[in-house]
Amino acid sequence: MREPPAVQRPVVIAGAGWAGLSAAVELSAHGVPVSLLESARQPGGRARSVQAGGLRIDNGQHLLVGACRSLLSLLERIQVDPRKALLRLPLTLRLLEPDGPGLYLRTPRWPSPLHLTGALAAARGLTPGERVRALRFGRKLSSLDIQRTDDISVLSLLQRETQPAAVIRKVWEPLCIAALNTFPEAASARIFVRVLQETFSGPRRHSDLLIPRQGLSALLPGPCVDYLKRHGARLETGQRVTGLSIQHGCIQGVSVRGRAIAASQVILATPHVISRRLVSRHADLQGLSTQLAGLDDAPVTTLYFQYTPQTSLPVPVLGLLNGLSQWVFDRAPCGQPGLMAVVISARGPHERWSQETLTAQVAAELAGQFPDWPAHRGSLLIREKRATFCSRVGIDTLRPTSRTPVDGLWLAGDYTATGLPATLEGAVRSGLESAQAVLACLRRDDGY
Ligand SMILES: Cc1cc2nc3c(=O)[nH]c(=O)nc-3n(C[C@H](O)[C@H](O)[C@H](O)COP(=O)(O)OP(=O)(O)OC[C@H]3O[C@@H](n4cnc5c(N)ncnc54)[C@H](O)[C@@H]3O)c2cc1C
Repeated sequence: MREPPAVQRPVVIAGAGWAGLSAAVELSAHGVPVSLLESARQPGGRARSVQAGGLRIDNGQHLLVGACRSLLSLLERIQVDPRKALLRLPLTLRLLEPDGPGLYLRTPRWPSPLHLTGALAAARGLTPGERVRALRFGRKLSSLDIQRTDDISVLSLLQRETQPAAVIRKVWEPLCIAALNTFPEAASARIFVRVLQETFSGPRRHSDLLIPRQGLSALLPGPCVDYLKRHGARLETGQRVTGLSIQHGCIQGVSVRGRAIAASQVILATPHVISRRLVSRHADLQGLSTQLAGLDDAPVTTLYFQYTPQTSLPVPVLGLLNGLSQWVFDRAPCGQPGLMAVVISARGPHERWSQETLTAQVAAELAGQFPDWPAHRGSLLIREKRATFCSRVGIDTLRPTSRTPVDGLWLAGDYTATGLPATLEGAVRSGLESAQAVLACLRRDDGY
């Protein structure tokens, strides 16, 4: 084990979302003092639990896949057993449509990548010809390489690869919207291919679906805070970083509503909009500010419906085609029987609908698909307008790395150049990367 680098002042991390928390844990694990400043009253950022209508729910239903290697390692480090904390299911796509066969696809327990071949070859709801075309694309996936500057839309890629309309609509489009929060017409093929490669090219378990059994806060932010306390790190909530102090191209610290906090290493783990606001006031960071101005956001809407405890889905997660509702999660395996979470990703006219109209529309779609269900007893709508950055064509040319032109100032967050869409895994990886860059810097300064 290496000696921890000698550090006088704590590394300041602004933002205790999953990126900031993962950076803080990594630094603390290496004996580096950390001061984590979070503007909200609780850590977790865009992936946190909230108390509403007598229920402990998440600010949006989240889904992970087995390829989230950095996130799974972080859980182990903070002593959360992923086998207990996450419900693991072999990849199953069951999509219903009001007047059609829908889709049923399930990866068999075969070694990778045969499991994908097996799933596509046996998919129900596609004709034999459609299955063959889907298989061809599936086989080609691992060798596809789209450069940052040659990015095209997911739809263009699928058409170039002669994917039939039914395969696009039933297989690739739902996956694209779920993973990139962007429609295939606008979504980056480069990012989509990266997601598919990470999910399907590794061992079979990488394509498993992972659903948090407890709330998101109990999965990672809570145990991270416990870990940080045990390692002497300082977490202050309700502390909004309002400015950066920079002199001669080096970071000097941050300010929190007029209070100056000196630091020679600062990780900005705030959302891109806030990071941009903070860097835009400094001449050294104008290029970065312009780059960040090119990022825009997409919403995710979640509706929770409480039914009688006996009400259930045939599988824990189910897709709906041709309607507003995209995915329905049965919360029963997570200890909340009768609670359904309906997810609507990406932009759409529903953003302008009133709560009553939106709730009535989704409730009607559920009633149409599940006529045996009783009327729901209560519902809750959560609109996250800035859920994720928009993974549109060419976006990777704008995503900054963790390094900034200012010495000692680093960036972390799902929007940085991870190659992934806005995901928990992307956030955790970026946090780790920024912490590792700080560690390398501290060791170098230390002559270590
Ligand atoms: C509804 C919804 C559904 C989603 N579904 C999925 C999914 O199924 N799977 C998946 O992998 N991902 C999903 N995501 C995306 C995922 O939640 C995000 O990518 C991830 O949480 C981003 O983490 P982050 O740390 O980069 O940013 P954030 O979570 O935004 O963290 C930034 C933190 O900085 C704090 N902050 C802001 N300003 C300041 C300031 N001035 N000073 C100090 N602190 C500040 C914020 O309060 C926040 O805590 C979803 C997101 C939403 C909202």
